[in-house]
Amino acid sequence: MNICVIGTGYVGLVTGVCFASLGHTVTCVDINEERVDNINSGRPPIYEVGLEEMLKDVLEGGNLSATTDLKTAVQGSEISFICVGTPSGLLGDIDVRFIEQVGRDIGKFLTDDYHVIVMKSTVVPGTTEFSLIQLLESTSEKKAGRDFGVAMNPEFLREGTAIEDFLNPDRIVVGGIDERSTEAVAALYEEFDAPLMRTSPRTAEMIKYATNSFLATKISFINEIGNICKPLDIDSYEVARGLGLDSRISPSFLRSGLGFGGSCFPKDVKAIVGKAKEVYYHPVVLNAALELNETQPLRLIRLAESKIGSLNGKDVVVLGLSFKPGTDDMREAPSIRIISSLLKKGAVVHATDPQALDGAREILGEKVNYYDNAKDAIKHGDLVFIVTEWDDFKDEGLYKGKIVFDGRNIKEARVAKYYEGICW
Ligand code: NAD
Repeated sequence: MNICVIGTGYVGLVTGVCFASLGHTVTCVDINEERVDNINSGRPPIYEVGLEEMLKDVLEGGNLSATTDLKTAVQGSEISFICVGTPSGLLGDIDVRFIEQVGRDIGKFLTDDYHVIVMKSTVVPGTTEFSLIQLLESTSEKKAGRDFGVAMNPEFLREGTAIEDFLNPDRIVVGGIDERSTEAVAALYEEFDAPLMRTSPRTAEMIKYATNSFLATKISFINEIGNICKPLDIDSYEVARGLGLDSRISPSFLRSGLGFGGSCFPKDVKAIVGKAKEVYYHPVVLNAALELNETQPLRLIRLAESKIGSLNGKDVVVLGLSFKPGTDDMREAPSIRIISSLLKKGAVVHATDPQALDGAREILGEKVNYYDNAKDAIKHGDLVFIVTEWDDFKDEGLYKGKIVFDGRNIKEARVAKYYEGICW
């Protein structure tokens, strides 16, 4: 099938490259010319394991190209996936500016050929049926269901394992406005070995929010257990093991630590809380999950201060900046709160990350000293904070003779002269 993918970030580029690797002809569209040029030259604008090799393969095979020309891309394909960003709005809602722009533009370019527009971006329930369709109909002067199809197909990939997750999902959810739309999307996933659920668009939208809200709550839950374990001198990881062996619970997402970050969990939980308010519901559990997550990163600093006193004037080595290993994504990374607080307290920060140095510089600026690798960073101080659990930091040699405050439970760091875990 000829597929148009709009937005070439973590979701769009991975979607485009994966569909192209399955033999489809994909045109990726972005408004950012530099991104488009990089993609056409085989350089992915984001870091994701295996993406560069796969991108080069599909470019060589002629299955993928990138462009800023939405009109040609839409008119040359049968189906368009909207994968643009939906960042947090000012009031805890989502900012749908990019979605609205794309909806209006696609509408202008629809012809008499039947075309299906698929929302893959994460949007609050009702956005596809009420907002997107209205924009498409008003600019195309055509009727959804009769002249073109619309569906919502949420994406569940995780940064760091995005390609693996896209190609081997736990489930696929397709919420079409009618059977024709649903089946056009379902056909693309025919070869996938995963259950495919057919729902309404708003149910598909809600499944995405319910999933992320549940996972975020699970993280805040285990952090709460960890915060209770720490003063009782109980290892929260042993507790998590005992908990995860219960078949009703499952062992994943039970690693207590610095809390969740990234572009999805904080934004999505806030957005569904905002949506709940619109229907006069006050979500108690979700608000608590957010509240605990706000303060969790700073517990590492409080722990250090309680053990060694003021951090003013001290050299602090921070290992890890991205919100999790395997990605260069700095959005809502706990490192931002930790480093900002360290700087405020007068510490001299020496930070390293295998992938996120450029992104970190943009957010944290030049008050931080950056190093390309942990071996260089660690030379600049005896006090070490572990913030992201990259494999590069699983090296006993880094920690010998150091004072370590660990936010991620890196076993190798326990050889340090002095070691404290945040929740264990
Ligand atoms: P991103 O910020 O990495 O990428 C968005 C891209 O869209 C950018 O390249 C931007 O230039 C482009 N864009 C903006 N306006 C455009 C327009 N008018 N035309 C063409 N391109 C345009 O975003 P992302 O992380 O890939 O997320 C995209 C959506 O998917 C969001 O709704 C997000 O919540 C959701 N999602 C993200 C993840 C994730 O792990 N990142 C996982 C599942 C779902």
